[in-house]
Amino acid sequence: MKLGRPAGHADLAETLDCGSLGAPPVQSTGPGALYTKMKLQNIGVIGAGTMGNGIAQTCAIRGYKVIMHDVSESRVNKGSDMLENSLGRLVKKEKISQDDCDQALARIETTTDIGAMVDSDLVVEAASENMEVKLQIFSQLHETCGEHAILASNTSSLSLTRIAAASGRPDRVIGMHFFNPVPLMALVEVIRALQTSDKTYDAVETLARDLGKTPVSVKDSPGFVVNRMLVPMINEAAFILYEGLAQAEDIDAAMKLGAAHPMGPLTLADMIGLDVCLWVMDVLHQEFGDSKFRPCPLLKQMVDAGYLGRKSGRGFYDYSG
Ligand code: NAD
Repeated sequence: MKLGRPAGHADLAETLDCGSLGAPPVQSTGPGALYTKMKLQNIGVIGAGTMGNGIAQTCAIRGYKVIMHDVSESRVNKGSDMLENSLGRLVKKEKISQDDCDQALARIETTTDIGAMVDSDLVVEAASENMEVKLQIFSQLHETCGEHAILASNTSSLSLTRIAAASGRPDRVIGMHFFNPVPLMALVEVIRALQTSDKTYDAVETLARDLGKTPVSVKDSPGFVVNRMLVPMINEAAFILYEGLAQAEDIDAAMKLGAAHPMGPLTLADMIGLDVCLWVMDVLHQEFGDSKFRPCPLLKQMVDAGYLGRKSGRGFYDYSG
């Protein structure tokens, strides 16, 4: 299925109201301008959720042909709607032209058939964060895709070395960790599994730059770079609150004014989701076996109570109003 023209309603990108695309200006050079010079030309995206549709949008706007897959028509359509709305807002804010938007949409196809990935040079898997699900997808992709194709995962926490080992093509498996919202965030962690070849790494690093992102090279390890630092900082902020040392507003103000962070750690935790923060802490704790990564009891209690942050209407702050 081909995508159509944009409608318009809010998503996270609008909530953040970021001032720029986080990338060099998009050139209106027409479909295929970049396509002809790149080695990785056809990009597959597995999962049309928050990250998948952002990755598809980012690739299409930079001139790549994209095929986006999910398990059902309703999931695919939801992802397509988010993508079209996001591009529509960029047009409204005059970050891209209507022509850029139309051309990007024309480069994207959607499918519920993983077999449609057959012509992809690179597939970025952005399905749910579950090892069984990812292993099954990688096995299906190995059967479907050409010998040369690179299989990347956007996993935040799972072992790429384990995924590579089960993939059937370990040297062509790599981590491509985008950040949310993908069209606006400038970083991609490019993660080498133990088995990833230099050729695979170089191709993906080049692609990340061509998407207007700044790649950072990381070896496979729990939390990679950003989550290894960011989530323990949030956990420590929860400890400070738990121990009654300061109020939530003061903890956030301290980090905004004293460390020049754009938002305080507890506000950020509410945005990420407290369940996601707890999940990352549990992974770090289990994988490293180091007590410095023990999750704060308050974080656990809040997740047990269903206080998950913005998405549930209550976290460290109240969003019910
Ligand atoms: P999401 O729940 O928004 O989307 C996941 C999508 O995957 C859903 O649409 C689901 O239907 C689909 N899916 C599940 N099983 C599938 C299968 N077998 N085949 C195809 N599609 C399938 O999740 P998300 O937030 O987009 O996260 C996706 C991945 O990106 C996860 O690995 C997550 O850890 C990682 N990630 C998330 C963020 C974030 O801020 N949300 C940031 C960086 C990385």
